[in-house]
Amino acid sequence: MILEINNLSKKYGDKKALNKFSCKFTEGIYGLLGPNGAGKSTFMNILVDAIDRSSGEILYNGKETISMGKDYRNLIGYMPQQQGVYDSFTVAEFLDYIAGLKGLKKTEAKKRIEEVLKFVNLYDVKNKKLKSFSGGMKQRALIAQAILNDPKILILDEPTAGLDPKERIRIRNLISQIGFNKIVIIATHVVSDIEFIAKEVLILDNGILRKKDTPENLLKGI
Ligand code: ADP
Ligand code: ADP
Repeated sequence: MILEINNLSKKYGDKKALNKFSCKFTEGIYGLLGPNGAGKSTFMNILVDAIDRSSGEILYNGKETISMGKDYRNLIGYMPQQQGVYDSFTVAEFLDYIAGLKGLKKTEAKKRIEEVLKFVNLYDVKNKKLKSFSGGMKQRALIAQAILNDPKILILDEPTAGLDPKERIRIRNLISQIGFNKIVIIATHVVSDIEFIAKEVLILDNGILRKKDTPENLLKGI
């Protein structure tokens, strides 16, 4: 499994949100660090096919992802930041809805929803509404929907935003258990989220990939 990004650029008018970004991802967990405006969301949005790139290539196992179409989108799992859109849903209804969007068949969806609810430890509260959940529980519900279709490429946007240290550790432990046989990319401001679980960390600044190294080597330099 290899995801190869070649000279990926995104322009908004004259602004280069992403400037000739090149990188290879293989199985494992990657951290994506960078200040506000660095281009993290732009990169993730292009990967999850929410926005178009201006130029460059994205190859999955050697195939241009644009030409893969739906087959590529089926490889992707995405955990967005909390928005509260689904607050009136129970977590079970929420996952059922997402399973529908992802085209899972009824019987397969039922089994899979049960599995992921148990994995994120929300099975006992599956009939409670998301609006009654703590921040940590909401984040776990978002992780559950991201892994519902057992994606090969998992993109997590600020998975621990707004959580206290205890909850952050809990989320980190969950993510570290997901990292097998997948490419996991975690955008975060919290270095400790990725310090112990990422095999490599990418530092983006002003749309440019400044550094890519193991967490140990990068932190030595700080
Ligand atoms: P990050 O996620 O690292 O904070 P973003 O990818 O959101 O960075 O933004 C990168 C740059 O692109 C910023 O300068 C931002 O203002 C600009 N940008 C992002 N989205 C848009 C947009 N829809 N229109 C114009 N400029 C944008
Ligand atoms: P977290 O579990 O993310 O650390 P809390 O510390 O607030 O969040 O909750 C601890 C546990 O309490 C949860 O895992 C859950 O089992 C239970 N809990 C919290 N809020 C609710 C709720 N609204 N409905 C049912 N159980 C809840």
